[in-house]
Amino acid sequence: MSEKTRGQELEEKLTWSFPHIGRDAVEQSLEASGYCEGYKAFLNAGKTERECVKEAVKMLTAAGYVPFDRTASYEPGSKVYYVNRGKSLIATTFGTKPLTEGVRINGAHIDSPRLDLKPNPLYEKEEIAFFKTHYYGGIRKYQWGTIPLAIHGVVVKKDGETIELSIGEKENDPVFCVTDLLPHLSAKQNERPLKDGLKGEELNVVVGSLPFQDEKVKEPVKLLALSILHERFGITEKDFYRAEIEVVPATKARDVGLDRSLIGAYGQDDRVCAYTAITAERDTKLPSYTTVTVLADKEEIGSEGNTGLNSDFVLHYIEDLADMAGVKVRDVLRASLCLSSDVNAAYDPNFPDVYEGRNSSYINKGCVLTKYTGARGKSGSNDASAETMAKVISIMEEAGVYWQAGELGAVDAGGGGTIAKLVAHMDVDTVDLGVPILCMHSPFELASKMDVYNTYKAFQAFYK
Ligand code: MN
Ligand code: MN
Repeated sequence: MSEKTRGQELEEKLTWSFPHIGRDAVEQSLEASGYCEGYKAFLNAGKTERECVKEAVKMLTAAGYVPFDRTASYEPGSKVYYVNRGKSLIATTFGTKPLTEGVRINGAHIDSPRLDLKPNPLYEKEEIAFFKTHYYGGIRKYQWGTIPLAIHGVVVKKDGETIELSIGEKENDPVFCVTDLLPHLSAKQNERPLKDGLKGEELNVVVGSLPFQDEKVKEPVKLLALSILHERFGITEKDFYRAEIEVVPATKARDVGLDRSLIGAYGQDDRVCAYTAITAERDTKLPSYTTVTVLADKEEIGSEGNTGLNSDFVLHYIEDLADMAGVKVRDVLRASLCLSSDVNAAYDPNFPDVYEGRNSSYINKGCVLTKYTGARGKSGSNDASAETMAKVISIMEEAGVYWQAGELGAVDAGGGGTIAKLVAHMDVDTVDLGVPILCMHSPFELASKMDVYNTYKAFQAFYK
């Protein structure tokens, strides 16, 4: 081996670039793959925020968690959870340090972009029955045509009974579809800008094509669809006004690539951080700081509503913890540290123009620490402080976690936001951390297994 030159030595000492896990620690791939089998099962079981809450409750209950009771008293190591209206969840493992030294908050979201049924969805046109939809969150509408879709949701009947629907996930279930034009007749449609490739009011889902057998009926195809729903679920057209029904890709999570290094699935934004967060929460035994793991709803539409982070439900929960300990919630919050756990855009070599390579995250380089999100000069961003960055970086480095830093695309190429600013609003030091994702918000998003695994390891270290 030849001696290093002084320049090479200095280069090694002074410069920095993030290592590729596949080169640096390829032995992690077996462990990462094993961990990701559970992740894929979670994705398949949780296609909506409600289903993700149910899955999380199942996991937590199996690990000995009990529903949070603010009149009870808990010892270090005790484990509790709280469900907010079936659509968001908080889990805690009580720590050994007093609450005035702060809690460790890890917040991910479990809602994903999709097509929601309109309140009056069912209609018939030229003897085909359709559901009208209104898309939820940022989707590229043209991606939602001609793929198999499933229908998930709840209907609250007049008598108060809640019916849960899921059609299109089982092997023998029918699926649903948004149509698109054939290339032979799409000359005019091809002239549309891509964002209008399919327009919002064209995202109509085919639900049937045969008529109810009665010549006296005006809309027999619609009636047959309704009668099948009635037979199966006991619902009528009016019940759609008391429903939340979501149309999502019917596909299952799959390994991607000959080397099986990636996972392809719908809803990885942000169920990848939800799964890594909830498993890290579950696997935390006797933490120093009390943990507050939040799986939130409504992030994709601005965290609005009382199940989103714009609501005070997390604040109220921490208030309850503070009251139980006989301390002021403001003292708890001021001393707390939060990971806003959400995905970032992984560098896509097919579209280099929208990234700035030196400040992008890359697949297989570990979880990505995102100092700020936002758009147009960091607007709408939390912009974590140097002190917060330092704390989180040292937590990860002490635990040997592979991490990297990245912006959400090049300056003025676009932008986005997370729940970070809403937690920071409570006077909590907050920074974004998550998994780099390719084709984010599409019906089939890609993530690297080693990145998923290292995100889990980062969350575990955060809760030590
Ligand atoms: Mn997200
Ligand atoms: Mn998103």
